[in-house]
Amino acid sequence: MVLLAEDDPAIAEPLSRALHREGYQVRVVADGHEVLDLAADGEVNVLVLDLGLPGMDGLEVCRRLRTSGSEIPVLMLTARTDEVDFVVGLDAGADDYVAKPFRLAELLARIRALLRRRAPETLEVAGVRMDLGARMVTVDGGEIQLANKEFELLRVLLQRAGQVVSRDEILAEVWNDLDAKTSKTSKTLDMHMSWLRRKLGDAGNRSPERRIATVRGVGFRFNAD
Ligand code: CA
Repeated sequence: MVLLAEDDPAIAEPLSRALHREGYQVRVVADGHEVLDLAADGEVNVLVLDLGLPGMDGLEVCRRLRTSGSEIPVLMLTARTDEVDFVVGLDAGADDYVAKPFRLAELLARIRALLRRRAPETLEVAGVRMDLGARMVTVDGGEIQLANKEFELLRVLLQRAGQVVSRDEILAEVWNDLDAKTSKTSKTLDMHMSWLRRKLGDAGNRSPERRIATVRGVGFRFNAD
């Protein structure tokens, strides 16, 4: 989830819509204490934090977050362009900052970069292991060769193993297809899913041992056990 801490609806609303379109789950809050509560829940993957929040300002929120041991990536939004404020923000533990007014595309790119930087190097679930740096996949110790889209597809499923990932989310993340309802992209997804399953040695359609389950009308789930 992207947690967006911004008290100005003229910024928060369009930004949250854009993040939704990119396939992220978004929660918007305007209060620093709420940010700290939500961050402690462990559901936040990146925090976009306005420096000028009422009550507890963004710097204080960031300091408290780091003091509590949280390593959530923080992208600070600041209305001030004074370099001193940037330095103070980074000192407080922010990972990056963007000055208002910002271009949406730039902000989204920075968020993606932060998520990549903090992503783990390897994923391992139920005998399937992905080395993201080396782009290597092994199943029960034996290496398998995946094409690029199959690799990305598996990554999205493994990152959320045990949970359903919707078709829309997969299309947005793997194919960068944001209005994904066309039957063409949807068919492409099914095709790649069937190749991926075959390469994983996934058992027949109804097998309870199947690694990737189809959740009818919703999407897919990588079974964690
Ligand atoms: Ca503000």
